[in-house]
Amino acid sequence: MRERRPLGLLGGTFDPVHHGHLRLAEEAAEALGLTRVRLIPAGQPPHREQPASSPEHRLAMVALAAAGNPLLEVDAAEVASPRASYTVDTLERLRGEFGEMQPLVLILGADAFAGLASWHRWREVFGLAHVAVANRPGHAPHARRWPALLSPELDDACTSRLTADAETLKTAPAGRVMPFEMTPLAISATRIRELLARGQSARYLLPDGVLDYIGNHSLYR
Ligand code: ATP
Repeated sequence: MRERRPLGLLGGTFDPVHHGHLRLAEEAAEALGLTRVRLIPAGQPPHREQPASSPEHRLAMVALAAAGNPLLEVDAAEVASPRASYTVDTLERLRGEFGEMQPLVLILGADAFAGLASWHRWREVFGLAHVAVANRPGHAPHARRWPALLSPELDDACTSRLTADAETLKTAPAGRVMPFEMTPLAISATRIRELLARGQSARYLLPDGVLDYIGNHSLYR
């Protein structure tokens, strides 16, 4: 197959988007040779409590965060959908949009990856995209010992798919699992929401433009 540079996909609640997300996208692009990274805010996440901010606010904040970086693009489809957003549905949609041959890389932090075996139709994910997993402080299993550490089911599904070579992501549209190291950043949206709710500063944990948006719309108080 002709080599094509893969497209990265980074889904999340982004409640709010922060520098952990943005470095994850930036470092994934560099480490994995991605052409772009598409940020995909969830509409109604099936796996967790409802976000503190509306889908429209979360989408607007992601758009502000991505502005000015040609590597990043924003996908509003999950926010626009009235249904719960399952990753596998989004991957099927993107497979339709980009065609059978385009390598797609689903980018996950270690905490998100650890929960993968509980996702709707999770085994089908590997037929639709590669999966790249970044370390995350507090959630980072040692690179050589996961995914066995996370769950036996995931281990069975992933062991034969593991690769340490980003070049292999170009040679197939989907199916490999690649761990990669990013600058460890112990930033979470939960922590940012807690700070803001207490009236404390969240400056430098997220882009200034996003913080201004939060202030202007009285979010997370
Ligand atoms: P919350 O604290 O509300 O659970 P979060 O900060 O984990 O939110 P999400 O929107 O749930 O943010 O995360 C989207 C994706 O980004 C997930 O794959 C998650 O693992 C990853 N991610 C978020 N923050 C970091 C970080 N600091 N380092 C590495 N990956 C991260």
